Amino acid sequence: MSPVKDFDVAIVGGGIAGLTLAIALNSRSIPVTLYEQARSFGEIGAGVSFSPNAVQAMKVCHQGIYEAFETVCTRNMWPSKEKVWFDYVDAYSDVMSNGVLDTAFTISSNLGQNGVHRAHFLDEAVKLIPNQLARFGKRLQNISEDRNGRLVMHFDDGTVAEADAIIGCDGIKSRVRQTIVGPDHPSARPVYTHKYAFRGLIPMEDACAAVGEERAQNACMYMGYDKHVLTFPVNHGKTLNLVAFRTTMEDWPDAQRLTRPGQRDELLHEFEDYGPAIIKLLKLIGPKLDVWAIFDLGYPVPTLYKGRICISGDAAHATSPHHGAGAGFCIEDSAMLAELLADEQVKSRHELEAVFATFDAERRSRAQWLVDSSRWIGDCYELRAEGIGNDFTKIEAEIKERNGIIANVNIEEMCARAKDELRKRLSG
Ligand code: FAD
Repeated sequence: MSPVKDFDVAIVGGGIAGLTLAIALNSRSIPVTLYEQARSFGEIGAGVSFSPNAVQAMKVCHQGIYEAFETVCTRNMWPSKEKVWFDYVDAYSDVMSNGVLDTAFTISSNLGQNGVHRAHFLDEAVKLIPNQLARFGKRLQNISEDRNGRLVMHFDDGTVAEADAIIGCDGIKSRVRQTIVGPDHPSARPVYTHKYAFRGLIPMEDACAAVGEERAQNACMYMGYDKHVLTFPVNHGKTLNLVAFRTTMEDWPDAQRLTRPGQRDELLHEFEDYGPAIIKLLKLIGPKLDVWAIFDLGYPVPTLYKGRICISGDAAHATSPHHGAGAGFCIEDSAMLAELLADEQVKSRHELEAVFATFDAERRSRAQWLVDSSRWIGDCYELRAEGIGNDFTKIEAEIKERNGIIANVNIEEMCARAKDELRKRLSG
């Protein structure tokens, strides 16, 4: 098919944001090239789950992304838990009634819980774009503009590439964001949330032996003071994904490196006051594991664009993971950008700034809300939110209200509204 647009787009970064955007643009016949610093597409082996808004956004981007998700997705394994997002458990009660840890409360959604192994999801999604669309080993250093108004990307390997528009999907430490806001602006760098996380994968059989089948085979959150553990099944129920979060007053030693090697003994020491069944579960993690610093864009970006350069995904609104919605918001971004760029009134490079201005106006406050709300809800899980404390009724109400803001949206309508706004801008 010959291109329908008289402009081309460069995407910097091939994570969930960049890849879904590339697929969405390519399927709309918008000329696009993706530049990724790594030697190939690659995601870590951890799990990620998606909320109903994310699944809607996948469908808007490309039906194939949704199908990729369905192919690799693992839901709660019990039919009675189909709609359950998490069962919340008081980590100290650890009361096994008939072999089951008591539930403090349950949060449900119309999609329930679902987990994908990140790398498996990516492997499926990558099949949706032609190989030649991606360039690997291209680490963006800076951007300039040539005398013909073409944007020029300068890469670490000394090569350059041109495009009419650049969309930075280059993650939390985004180089493109630094270009937009300036290297000295506080939002140029991510902020430590003073939480870190241990992540591990456990064979399901062993997990069932530790906490019982109901807890292991369905998503569960174990709430404690200044820490919480969440688990959900991945890999079609063969594996339990576990993330153990801890709040600390100490600073993270090196903001350049967001992970550090850790030991299971360290984890066991930090969670030693948890009940015996959960301790048994934690003991199943391998002796060496990674510790992840939880950074976010706690200092909001003042804008998502400058001229024909824009940021999307974590580059624009990296959030702590407590709502389990960061990647979903990346896909929302991709859906909206693709729909705006595909609008029939967007024909040449002259309309691109209006596209990004519209994207900024429509997305920035929702995305920043997520960053702030995620911090708050993380503190609620850890019984430390001001005015909420260890009152489970209040915690439940907070989660329900905020999850509703995330999930109870209509992504198609959101995109249609944005297109109306774009047309007003273009005719104004
Ligand atoms: P990234 O995945 O960071 O991708 C950025 C890409 O850009 C990378 O491939 C990188 O190599 C490339 N890149 C970077 N710099 C350059 C450069 N200069 N030049 C070229 N390429 C570059 N979200 C959910 O929705 N559900 C969850 O359950 C969930 N759980 C999470 C758990 C944890 C512990 C964490 C930390 C996050 C979680 N998230 C979750 C959030 C989610 O992981 C992120 O929002 C999402 O992966 C970000 O995708 P991205 O493509 O924007 O960025």
